[in-house]
Amino acid sequence: MKCEFVKNNGKRCGNYHLKNESYCYWHSKRIPEADKLQARQRGGKDKIIKVNGSYKLSKLETISEAMKLNATLINNVLSDSLDLRCGVGLSSMLNLQLKLIESGEFEKRLSEIEKDLKTKSEQLQ
Ligand SMILES: [Zn+2]
Repeated sequence: MKCEFVKNNGKRCGNYHLKNESYCYWHSKRIPEADKLQARQRGGKDKIIKVNGSYKLSKLETISEAMKLNATLINNVLSDSLDLRCGVGLSSMLNLQLKLIESGEFEKRLSEIEKDLKTKSEQLQ
């Protein structure tokens, strides 16, 4: 949701509101002006976004574990309890994890087939 602040020109502020607030960081009355000034002076030098929530950590070794995390991320972004940018970052890591899981499973199956072929070729000799 967008910030409810209306500027002097009559247009609404285009920033997203803070969690559980109607205003963005810059228009929030809860954040002291000194903090905002300090943030302006840092000017994007620290754009670190931390995941705002606690997640049950798993080894993420199976597709089903990855699916569970993906569903959690989607639900948290949609319910506004996780910043979209965090969700995007995590989804990219999750995508890589899924590829690694698939590669690992493929490698395991291939090695089983090779073992089976070797056994059968030994039986023929
Ligand atoms: Zn605003």
